[in-house]
Amino acid sequence: MTSLVIVGAGPRGTGLLERIAANAAELLPADRPLEIHLVDPYPPGAGRIWRHEQSPLLRMNSMAEDVTMFTDERATIEGPVRPGPSLAEWALRQREFAPYREVADPAVRAELRELAPTDFPTRRAQSAYLDWVFRRAVADLPAHVTVTVHRGTVRRIDGPADGPQTVHLDGGTLTADHVALTLGHLDSAPHPRYAADAAFAARHGRFHLPPAYSTDIEAELARIAPGEPVVLRGLGLASVDLVAMLTEGRGGRFEPTGDGPALRYLPSGREPVLHLGSRRGVPYHSKTDYRLQGPPAPLPRYFDAAAVDALLATGRPLELRRDVWPSMAKEIGFGHYHELFHAHPERTALPWPQFLDRYDRHGWYSPELAALVAEAVPDPGDRIDFERLDHPLAGLRLGSTEELQAQLRGYITADADRHADPAHSADLGAFLALLSLFGQLPRLLAARRLTARSVAEEVDGWFFGYFNFLASGPPGFRLRQLLALSEAGVVRFLGADVRVERDEPTGTWRASGATVPGHTVTATALVEAYLPKHALARTLDPVLGELHRAGRVVEEVVSDAEHTHRSGLVTIDPSDSRLIDPALGGAPHPRRTALGPHTSLRAAAAFARPRTNSPGFRQNDAAARALLRALAALPAAALVG
Ligand SMILES: Cc1cc2nc3c(=O)[nH]c(=O)nc-3n(C[C@H](O)[C@H](O)[C@H](O)COP(=O)(O)OP(=O)(O)OC[C@H]3O[C@@H](n4cnc5c(N)ncnc54)[C@H](O)[C@@H]3O)c2cc1C
Repeated sequence: MTSLVIVGAGPRGTGLLERIAANAAELLPADRPLEIHLVDPYPPGAGRIWRHEQSPLLRMNSMAEDVTMFTDERATIEGPVRPGPSLAEWALRQREFAPYREVADPAVRAELRELAPTDFPTRRAQSAYLDWVFRRAVADLPAHVTVTVHRGTVRRIDGPADGPQTVHLDGGTLTADHVALTLGHLDSAPHPRYAADAAFAARHGRFHLPPAYSTDIEAELARIAPGEPVVLRGLGLASVDLVAMLTEGRGGRFEPTGDGPALRYLPSGREPVLHLGSRRGVPYHSKTDYRLQGPPAPLPRYFDAAAVDALLATGRPLELRRDVWPSMAKEIGFGHYHELFHAHPERTALPWPQFLDRYDRHGWYSPELAALVAEAVPDPGDRIDFERLDHPLAGLRLGSTEELQAQLRGYITADADRHADPAHSADLGAFLALLSLFGQLPRLLAARRLTARSVAEEVDGWFFGYFNFLASGPPGFRLRQLLALSEAGVVRFLGADVRVERDEPTGTWRASGATVPGHTVTATALVEAYLPKHALARTLDPVLGELHRAGRVVEEVVSDAEHTHRSGLVTIDPSDSRLIDPALGGAPHPRRTALGPHTSLRAAAAFARPRTNSPGFRQNDAAARALLRALAALPAAALVG
């Protein structure tokens, strides 16, 4: 009997299990039974982030048809493809997919019955899907592989590189031939940059919330008083969740105004006053809620494997913005213009083959390409301009805060309208091309040829933030809600380049933005409205903390003569996701694997979209195959069972 412990039973742990189920028949001989132990304090499948016990107001920022846990014919994996339903397909035909079990919560049942493929489901609906995916993965295991679920936290792992591992969890130990850490989104002690605000809040009896997962903070938010002025620093997804919980979650309601999709907010009187600001000063772009109007673009065309090979062959240190981004930008531009020329040819002035022939020949930032676009795409609103998108309020100076509110409402209305209008489906073409970049990016990063400063400032600093701003925004209805809250005076915008200072004599925070010079808002609560960024050195996860203290895991550090960048990520071998172990001279630990957002294999933190050859599936498949091979190769005498 061989034994595997998977620590973390969220989407990643479940995805790994699905790949083990798919590959075991081929790689694990029938006379080598495998016992899998899955450990998580939260329910298997959903795990912590997607557990049912969270506010029903929280939604996905993906459409139901864009979320899948199953491989399809586009997946370039070594193991077998095992198709399965997307969230949308499963919701529609649940009874057809074994093992069927009625969803317990009547509200989720009702939601799933009505769920349209282009709806943005509640997180609870996704929780139900993940629960089913987990049960299906277990049902699909061959007879010689079994699973036992343990509800608990793993505190420590020890054991030699060439022998069984002992896994210590609440109330016992497990012995395993191999351990996989799919720990996901983790907490770390607050970054020192929040310490001063936390101490200030404690000193003055004020409310300060460091970055947190919305799933976990409903109770905490009750400490914010009705009418209390609160500054929310951040306008991304965490901010959207917080605004929902502090408005609708406090009994307010939205109703249609009768004017198109516009909403009116009916306050309960228990809401605080929410002052929203960030560096850009505007919310993330709305998600589109339509499909491509033309044929899908054959991606990738420019930022493909050959482009990465060519970059790596140059032999000189690379910088993302200078050396890589131009071909990434050209790829996104290709997705955008492919859709524009195919779906809306009446707004273009050249036949597509002619445009493409010239587009192929010029660099993204070349004057020739700018001239081509100016000639072929007459309306500037149909052209893609990354710099304008990145800094929408740059240089804007307004005389009053009321002008700022009107300006922001205009911006948000235009964004919500545009992203709901299939006439602008080129935006969706660009979005899909943006996602396709993740097919090559991990390999480029793993080659460690970018300078340390570029990884710090341009990859982890700029690119991932910009990606989220463009591609991880809220569904359109959230922006309509934000507009209604702004009209009702519950939400106030602070503008761009927001600064928050502590005023010791009054014990209040003073927030000001660059867009209305001289204007300051006073607040008695400060919320860091963005998702936590895990850092290994400050981790609060017991098992990672122990491994780190024992010198058995290592933070990814990218350094060169000019700069040292500590990414906070746990270093793994990019080929099969085994943990790099400093005690083994920096070699991968033969019996320890780690997958997911806490690791150095940077990927888009998102569910796979059907038919996109998702890198997550490829990683899961490679890791599952490597660990099954390792288990099959163990000498019988060395097995734990
Ligand atoms: C708030 C939020 C919203 C998101 N919304 C979307 C969305 O709408 N659409 C989309 O495509 N993507 C979304 N994502 C991204 C993606 O869905 C997540 O990245 C996904 O949850 C990752 O799955 P995971 O299993 O790697 O991590 P997690 O979901 O964090 O699961 C990891 C599991 O490991 C367990 N664990 C950790 N440490 C231990 C331990 N020591 N012992 C035992 N168990 C342990 C945890 O309890 C947890 O259940 C969202 C992410 C977040 C954080």
